[in-house]
Amino acid sequence: MYPVRQTPHSVGRTAELRMAAALQLHPYPDPHCPNTRPMSRFLTQTMETIRCRLLCLLAVCCLGLVGCTAADGTGQLQQPPAIPDRLQVVTTVAPLADIIGNVIGDLANLQALVPPGVNSHTYEPTPSDARHLAAADLIFINGLQLEALILDLAEANVAEGVPIVALGDRVLDRSDWVFDFSFPESGGAPNPHIWLNPELVMACVEVIAEELGRADPAQAEAYAANAETYLNRLRQLDEALAEASATVPESQRQLLTYHDSWAYFGPRYGFTVTGAIQPADMAEPSAREVADLIRQVREANVPVIFGAAEFPSPVLEAIARETGARLEASLADDVLPGEPGDPEHSYIGMMLYNTRIIVAALGGDVQALDSVPLTQNQANG
Ligand SMILES: [Zn+2]
Repeated sequence: MYPVRQTPHSVGRTAELRMAAALQLHPYPDPHCPNTRPMSRFLTQTMETIRCRLLCLLAVCCLGLVGCTAADGTGQLQQPPAIPDRLQVVTTVAPLADIIGNVIGDLANLQALVPPGVNSHTYEPTPSDARHLAAADLIFINGLQLEALILDLAEANVAEGVPIVALGDRVLDRSDWVFDFSFPESGGAPNPHIWLNPELVMACVEVIAEELGRADPAQAEAYAANAETYLNRLRQLDEALAEASATVPESQRQLLTYHDSWAYFGPRYGFTVTGAIQPADMAEPSAREVADLIRQVREANVPVIFGAAEFPSPVLEAIARETGARLEASLADDVLPGEPGDPEHSYIGMMLYNTRIIVAALGGDVQALDSVPLTQNQANG
């Protein structure tokens, strides 16, 4: 048996706080601005800018609708362009899009709003996003406040009665929310990276199938069948990740990462997330913070620093060079590895890709990961 899921809130919390104190990665409140918290300061500035843009965007959308209204001369707002016969499903980030796509198969249309490789944490929606949301029959977001701007836009644009399903809020009790380095409790937004924990993803798949069946009852059984097929693959993935992770010597099972996205993965597979380098506002650490970090990484004898390919950071190389820690800078935290069409350009591929890097870098054996099929055809084969 592999480790049973432990509650993220209780597991790792002590260790996280201990390392946070030891590393002093992101002291809260911010010493440079004692009366404000980093997240709230960031949010205040960013939200102000973005709300202005959002208002402009909504005005553009309204003008578009008025244009349609003028065409028929009735004064009634027209519906968006006629939707083809398939259900229109809209979602946000790439990992979720792939997961949802596996439940949908060829039964509905799916549109992901956040473009590949774009930082979903700071993504600003576009006018075309407003159009997709207005045309949607069903919307899935991660929730946990990851897509606050998209949610605002969705609520302003969706047709009446269209569900906006926040998966993270459905599968994770508030008591299990993790607040940590880049997502401090003082900021109010928990760590949103539920997709890096396949157990939570399996719970999402159940919700996705249920909501698709409700929105498109004629095909409910087909969605449920697709979900069951995909769940079997996710169970196999989960077991393989656990088996490979268990080969890492216990003393090595620590994750010091750049992007703070491993909060729900760590407890699932027995890793302690000991720190995250990226500040809450997604900027680079200051020179002083880097200097402190170098000293503290040395003291804590951190074996590997993990960076993410989508968040390249020059400070990582400097920290690795100065501390002697090994640098693995190619994790795929929020994006799918490879290119569209590659077998590994999928959620399952992403989890295998990342776990292979982590387990190998920390001295474990990745062999168990080789048994997991990357595609449904391989699984059938
Ligand atoms: Zn992220």
